[in-house]
Amino acid sequence: MLNKNFAVGVDLGGTSIKAGLVDKKGKIIKKVSVDSLADGGVETVIRQIKHAINEVMNGKSGKILGIGIGAPGSVKLKKGTVENPPNLPGWGKVHLGTILNKEFGCDVFVENDANAAAIGELIYGAGRNFKNFVMITLGTGVGGGIIIDRKIYRGEAGYAGELGHVTIDSMGRQCNCGAIGCIEAYIGNNYLIERVKKQLQEGSDSLLLNYINNDLNLITSKLICDAAIEGDDFSKSVVVDTGTKLGYSLASVVNVLDITTIIIGGGVAGFGKLLFDSAKSALKERVIASSRNSIRILPAKLKNNAGIKGASALVFYSSLKK
Ligand SMILES: [Zn+2]
Repeated sequence: MLNKNFAVGVDLGGTSIKAGLVDKKGKIIKKVSVDSLADGGVETVIRQIKHAINEVMNGKSGKILGIGIGAPGSVKLKKGTVENPPNLPGWGKVHLGTILNKEFGCDVFVENDANAAAIGELIYGAGRNFKNFVMITLGTGVGGGIIIDRKIYRGEAGYAGELGHVTIDSMGRQCNCGAIGCIEAYIGNNYLIERVKKQLQEGSDSLLLNYINNDLNLITSKLICDAAIEGDDFSKSVVVDTGTKLGYSLASVVNVLDITTIIIGGGVAGFGKLLFDSAKSALKERVIASSRNSIRILPAKLKNNAGIKGASALVFYSSLKK
């Protein structure tokens, strides 16, 4: 029997839709993953979302507290409108919240996935005991969310926390967003791999070459991490460089916001201690003196299924405000 102690979290991605039934403490009771079928267009994807939600609630009667959706791209909260999400071709504007509310008859909360990750850490994770923190997610893109006074800060147009587009080199590399020298253009997963490949092509020696049998297309951030742990100097330098650049970009954020707790999640965060240590020392080196001793960098707690948990946290988060 389901009741108000449960929520459904949906992680809407371009390849798959993951949904989970989650309790108040962030424990996943049941989860499913279905193909997004993004090429099928809006109707097809919405059908898949409904299917995934029905699957996790299967056979259970009673009313849950609500449904939370973490969606890529820009989200307008009022009708849960998702606008032109990257990776979901042909979407335009979809009032996803309204559509799902009609279907399931419960409250539906739609939020940008980076903000959902920050709210997930706030409700169940590493941010539970902090009033203010900045969450940064290192993946294919570099996303972020800002928590002030235990509330997500959305800004005027709703895209506050785009930490991936802090400039670290005004004459630097082109970023996906069109600007030059954004941090994402250095430490976003694809850029990172591309840069490592280039260095290896140019003759850098590394244990990585053994791992991949000299096939540069097989390089992943996980392998770079493994090689760094094995003591490979080249891979260690990649991790330290990534952490250092990350720290410099975060220094701008800390200097603007005077928020000194940073939570780091996402795949590249798997680089571990060496990444965190180098980010911390670069950050301390570049922040104004009065913040220096209060800098705290923590790994995200919601690792596996962070998307589902973050989305379900939207429901419990909103119930706190009522
Ligand atoms: Zn950018």
